[in-house]
Amino acid sequence: MNIENICAGPDIASIEPISFNTERCIACNRCADVCQVDVLVPSLEKGKPPLVLFPGECWYCGCCVMECPTHAIQLRHPLMNQAHFRLKKELEDTLESE
Ligand code: SF4
Ligand code: SF4
Repeated sequence: MNIENICAGPDIASIEPISFNTERCIACNRCADVCQVDVLVPSLEKGKPPLVLFPGECWYCGCCVMECPTHAIQLRHPLMNQAHFRLKKELEDTLESE
């Protein structure tokens, strides 16, 4: 069955949570198998990395990254999750010492 016949196509999300290193990917689809929310689906093209069909549904659990045997997946967290909050006093002390 052609997947394009049963869904509207890739979702649009504000960020791309998953990207693949196409030179490392061996198209084993282990990442797609392990994703519990079906963000990833096997590509229709043989030998290609999976499609990121529903990027907005990603949990950022990292299971696909851990499952990949060739370290071909990069997981990019949303900006808010990348922030490291610091106490105001700690920040002032750091600035003073510089
Ligand atoms: S990080 Fe988790 S939810 Fe997101 S694509 Fe990978 S396995 Fe799926
Ligand atoms: S698990 Fe890694 S090597 Fe296998 S299809 Fe996914 S990205 Fe490619």
